[in-house]
Amino acid sequence: MDISEFRRQAHELVDWMANYLENVREMPVKSECEPGDILEKLPDSPPEKPEEFSQIFADFESIILPGITHWQHPSFFAYFPANSSPPSLLGEMLTSTLAAQCMSWQTSPAAAELEECVTSWLKQMLDLPELLTGVIQDTASTATLCALLTARETRTGFQINEKGFDGKESFTIYCSAETHSSIEKDVRIAGFGKNSLRKIAVDNEYAMIPENLERAIEHDKKSGFNPLCVVATIGTTGSTAVDPLRKIGEICDRHSLWLHVDAAFSGSALILPEMRWMSDGMEYADSFVFNPHKWMLTNFDCSAYFVRDPKALVQTFEILPEYLKTSEGQPVKNYRDWGIQLGRRFRALKLWFVIRSYGLEGLRAVIRGHIELAQNLASKIESDDNFELLAPVPVSLVCFRYHPSKIKDESILDELNEALLDRINKTGKVFLTHTRLSGRFTIRMSIAQTQVTSKDVGAAWALIKKTAKSL
Ligand SMILES: *Cc1c(COP(=O)(O)O)cnc(C)c1O
Repeated sequence: MDISEFRRQAHELVDWMANYLENVREMPVKSECEPGDILEKLPDSPPEKPEEFSQIFADFESIILPGITHWQHPSFFAYFPANSSPPSLLGEMLTSTLAAQCMSWQTSPAAAELEECVTSWLKQMLDLPELLTGVIQDTASTATLCALLTARETRTGFQINEKGFDGKESFTIYCSAETHSSIEKDVRIAGFGKNSLRKIAVDNEYAMIPENLERAIEHDKKSGFNPLCVVATIGTTGSTAVDPLRKIGEICDRHSLWLHVDAAFSGSALILPEMRWMSDGMEYADSFVFNPHKWMLTNFDCSAYFVRDPKALVQTFEILPEYLKTSEGQPVKNYRDWGIQLGRRFRALKLWFVIRSYGLEGLRAVIRGHIELAQNLASKIESDDNFELLAPVPVSLVCFRYHPSKIKDESILDELNEALLDRINKTGKVFLTHTRLSGRFTIRMSIAQTQVTSKDVGAAWALIKKTAKSL
């Protein structure tokens, strides 16, 4: 493709993109494909001869688009948000155009220094402790892995990096029973083994019970284990429960454990002063992660990771082969040493566009709006005799089930709600997902799409009630 054709196609594509954002609410939220439907329509082997872009694009529309679940649909209430916004899209377009590999300062000084700037802005926006330093990672899963590896290396004087495990370390890691699955994955990858992960019981609001945490640490110490790290969650994935950070921090402090705080989803709400109760005790954190790519209008991937001791982070990951040596003559940030990837996209650009386009006022208004929508729905559910909330609603995720008062049997309620969810999703008008809380089948409705309005939430609630009646 030559540049003049690129120019023509790109203009058309931008029109398509704007139309998509305007019309996405008319599409079925969840793809109605069956497994194999898309693959069946794709050729088994790559084309020998060049193809026209118009043909490629026609196939995008006819083959690919029907297999897309529309995360930017205002009635996408499933899983967790991964919202984006026009300024973020524009930033992504420029990132793709520059196609810069931002592994070190020298490979794009502006990328390194803009990353330093926007992570410092985020720290101020969330009112994080001054002594934290930020870096952008691809995902929260990776950031938490960095935290575990840094905790491990700091504890052992960087000796596991040197010699590997000798089999006698017996580290133990603590999280709650409601912690995200990425923690267990990271524990496995970091070489601790799944058996070293202690899942601490939660209270009836699904938050970690700090007394149980301390008892588990003391018990492990007596039994010859080496307690290393606690992962506390601000906003669990199941129900956005908030672990009591201050109490957990005090325990970590008493027993010299690393405290990592996972706020991947709910962390964005900390830009609201009224939500800062969730981060009370953050001064104890050794590391903290939240995802602007979930709830801050910024396209995936953009996960903000903050550490108290950047030197320890860099010492954990830094390797300097001859071909990466540079000669700046003064200290610069080579972000390849701040995490696992060597190659890095220019991720700070879209975030910079978003923060400047909305301003803090604009971002606060969006997030506050989502929380209000969720709170309003929660009160409607609470006052409806046929429905019940199954967890508190601290931010914008509502966990509930259909529960007509005449039905007492838990397994019948599970079946009923599973059928309800299935029927609602089959309409293609909304997309909701589920979890289990205290063993009960729970419908989750996450309200945080960029374009969602009270009308969308109202329509979803009407559909849920109507469908429940029809069961
Ligand atoms: C979504 C989520 C994760 C995983 O985030 P990724 O960026 O996809 O790795 C981890 N923890 C919590 C609490 C989450 O909500």
